[in-house]
Amino acid sequence: MLLVATIALAVVALVAAGSALRQSRRSRMELRAAHARLARIDADLPAPDDQGGVGAEALRRDVRVSFEAREMEHDQALLASLLADFRDLAGAEEAILWRWDADRDSLSPAVWSGATPRPAHFNLTEWGPLVQWSAETSVVQTVGQEDLAYVAAACVRHDESLLGVLSLTHTGGLGLPRPALKEWMPRLADQLATFHDLLDVRRRYGRHMRQSQALLDAVQRLQGDRGGEGLARALCETALDVSGARGAVLVRWDGESEVGEVHFATEGTGLRAPTPLDSSSVVAEVCRSGKLHVLEDSRGAASAQALYGAARVIREPGSVAIIPIAREGRVLGALVLEADEVGALTTEDTRPLTVLGAVVASSLEITWQFAEVDRRARTDALTGLWNRMHFGEQLTRTLAEADRYNHPVSLVLMDIDHFKKVNDTWGHEAGDSVLKQVARVLQDGVRTVDICVRYGGEEIAMLLAQTDSVHAVEVAERLRSRIAATPVKHGAVEIKVTASFGVATYPETVRVRDQLFPSADKALYIAKHDGRNCVRAKPATKGRTAS
Ligand code: GH3
Ligand code: MG
Ligand code: MG
Repeated sequence: MLLVATIALAVVALVAAGSALRQSRRSRMELRAAHARLARIDADLPAPDDQGGVGAEALRRDVRVSFEAREMEHDQALLASLLADFRDLAGAEEAILWRWDADRDSLSPAVWSGATPRPAHFNLTEWGPLVQWSAETSVVQTVGQEDLAYVAAACVRHDESLLGVLSLTHTGGLGLPRPALKEWMPRLADQLATFHDLLDVRRRYGRHMRQSQALLDAVQRLQGDRGGEGLARALCETALDVSGARGAVLVRWDGESEVGEVHFATEGTGLRAPTPLDSSSVVAEVCRSGKLHVLEDSRGAASAQALYGAARVIREPGSVAIIPIAREGRVLGALVLEADEVGALTTEDTRPLTVLGAVVASSLEITWQFAEVDRRARTDALTGLWNRMHFGEQLTRTLAEADRYNHPVSLVLMDIDHFKKVNDTWGHEAGDSVLKQVARVLQDGVRTVDICVRYGGEEIAMLLAQTDSVHAVEVAERLRSRIAATPVKHGAVEIKVTASFGVATYPETVRVRDQLFPSADKALYIAKHDGRNCVRAKPATKGRTAS
């Protein structure tokens, strides 16, 4: 009997020793596994300079979404590691964080301790209701026999709101006895909630930092030594980088006269600058109200006609954002973004663009004021045509381009016939009216690329790029007959007006650039000599080669 008892004791001792040995071996293995997990966490942490790029593009929705998805994956791995520690601590097979979905009023496994695509050890039919029950009662729930528990579940709460449930399970029984579980489960759940919250704070902070850095980058890009079109282009291109839109348009707005125009448009818009803005267009309305306008689904409401009052051959955008640019309460213009997809531009997405608009507002105002002063200095006040100063520069530029691209360029000079008599008969004011109307007929009768200049008192010059002599004469003839057919109304009187035209073409009829103007003037003189109200062109002559 004693022998049996001794053998039994020895067996128990052996089993105990074996179990202790296994236990310590398991502990060592678990420790090693925990170390490996820690090392992995460290390695996975995104380096500060590996933040998916903090250039202006980092503000773009697709870049942001993909970065945040990677970040989320990383955070899930951290949570899984913490759950693996809980599992090992409690001698469980699996630890799961069930996330509460308030909309669906349900719990589903969000993160678990193993690397399997789904929880591998949880018996949903048997234990599922217990997890649900623990969420409903906020009390630690266990299932088992006496002190041995197979399942333990505790609520995970943060700031009184239910985050989910922590479950620890082992089909053969958890390592911790029931009383210990009752004590430990709430503490583990608290740790989980705190850790979850810390990750959340870190994500939000990271997002904020990335957005600030990207904005700073964008602002720095905009603050180069840029004036005029350079600034407008930089603003539109940065806006495209930031938003991922297909096209950006900068509109300039004059609040006093309520007149606007497309000042700059990127290639993806099918618009050309300058294009006047229709006063009843959506963009003009935004400029008047000064309020941000986002059309997340712009289908049927964003034709170029509706947006700008202009025509274009391009697919209508799926979403549009119109961001007013204001300074000290005055709207200077608007930045319009057009994206292909519905929902691609949202109010949330436009926030950084509003900041960019505010940053460039004062530079834009100065640039535009300067351009306005410059334009006035080059414009004739009576007719609104360009003046002689502008003409000199344009003539040199157009002739240089004609040489470079091997295009003809024609100069048409017009002089009103017997204009002195108009003044003498009807007065100087009537003479002014005649000048204004003739200027309008000429300006409207040439292409926008052509340059119309008031060259002298009642002399107007037109520089027609890429136009040969035959076509230039056609244009002059058309203009001549229009002037002759349109008497000028001045008060109660109608004044009949005619004009004479001289045409010369480089290098077709004038081989020397410097001779273009004198040749056209000579042709005009011949027109006067031939009885006025006619067009004369310099015929082609064999002369010196172009200089
Ligand atoms: P021709 O057919 O030979 O060109 O005769 P013309 O009378 O038009 O030519 P002339 O050069 O003798 O007279 C030009 C007149 O244009 C003289 C000048 O008083 C007038 N003039 C020049 N600038 C202005 C202006 O801004 N307003 C008005 N009302 N008259 C102007
Ligand atoms: Mg004259
Ligand atoms: Mg004259």
